[in-house]
Amino acid sequence: MSNLALVEGMNRLGTESAFVVLARAAELERHGHDVINLGIGQPDFRTPGHIVEAAVKALRDGHHGYTPANGILPLREAVAADISARRGVEVNPDHVVVVPGGKVTMWHAILMFGAPGHEIMYPNPGFPIYESAIRFTGATPVPIALAETDGFAFDPDDVLARVTEKTRLIIVNSPANPTGGVIPLSVLDRLAEGLADFPQVAILSDEIYSRIVYAGSEFGSMLRYSHLRDRLIMLDGWSKTYAMTGWRIGYAVWPESLVEHAARLNINSISCTNAATQHAAVAALKGPQDDVETMVRAFAERREALIEEIATLPGFRMIRPEGAFYAMPNIEGTGIPALELQDRLLEELHIATVAGTSFGALGEGYIRLSYAAGIDEIRTAMGRIRDLAKAEGWGSHS
Ligand code: PLP
Repeated sequence: MSNLALVEGMNRLGTESAFVVLARAAELERHGHDVINLGIGQPDFRTPGHIVEAAVKALRDGHHGYTPANGILPLREAVAADISARRGVEVNPDHVVVVPGGKVTMWHAILMFGAPGHEIMYPNPGFPIYESAIRFTGATPVPIALAETDGFAFDPDDVLARVTEKTRLIIVNSPANPTGGVIPLSVLDRLAEGLADFPQVAILSDEIYSRIVYAGSEFGSMLRYSHLRDRLIMLDGWSKTYAMTGWRIGYAVWPESLVEHAARLNINSISCTNAATQHAAVAALKGPQDDVETMVRAFAERREALIEEIATLPGFRMIRPEGAFYAMPNIEGTGIPALELQDRLLEELHIATVAGTSFGALGEGYIRLSYAAGIDEIRTAMGRIRDLAKAEGWGSHS
């Protein structure tokens, strides 16, 4: 036992189970097992070559020092131009703050607004770091329930009814991890309209999967609501769109009143984002987008295969995922709790998945499948599950 007394928040800090699953999957692989990884949330594609070359060139050109804390100007300008082209709104490059990954924006935004006595609303099931970071600050996490029956969206009037004078921040994520849901524009419109009555509430819109939306669904950025611009933090990045998870780079557009605070948090924590990575990120935004399109097309095909396979699994049912590269089938019919099913799939069938409960208490009854794996692997994995399901008579519970 250590005599060191940590701050209380450390006892409240959660984790991201996908990393724990990834470590165990790697261990099983080292022992010679053929593990199919549907666990971790990262594209299984390589970063496009021209982006890699831009980083190498930057290093060769001597870009190896610190950069401005909020990011190099050409990158912030490229971000502003990209937002203008894709989201149809103008942002000032001075409001863009570059960070080492989308997670850093999340952490900084929650640190800015979280304190004992404050409330922060967040999606549940949702990206686990929201709740973890909120708890760390001592603020009260107030879940926004994402129900399968609502297509994993939420009821905006219910959210608005639960805003109190203690509410400081509302987190929205669409397309969403872990559900694959895309929040309909009508829901965002109503939320935005209602938030006009609560000018003290900031909004963190996590739009990191904005480019991964399938036919029939429409992505809507919270930046479209001009009356919220003075309190909206829009998070996006390169990790998912350009298969750059390990490069560690992301950005946010901050409102004018917060941008100095965001830059100061950077100075106090990360100094700046890796210089060569920032040059690579410029190339990603300004260069050809064919690789992004190829990747999203591949995800779309895998999604169809997964939907088809899951329909044949006893005890499983699923609504169509509309974005990101996640599917979250309901597994109540198996009669097996989510965490137990995750462990059994990994240990017995060598299939990595993540229990819905890793994304919040409301994830019980679900598992998350990341379809960042080839179609053959997806079909093989589902075949293994089908055999076990039949052998054990799953589905007789539903
Ligand atoms: N936001 C969501 C919803 C995510 O799913 C992730 C990563 O899984 C992130 C943010 C963080 O992305 P990054 O790897 O850029 O930190």
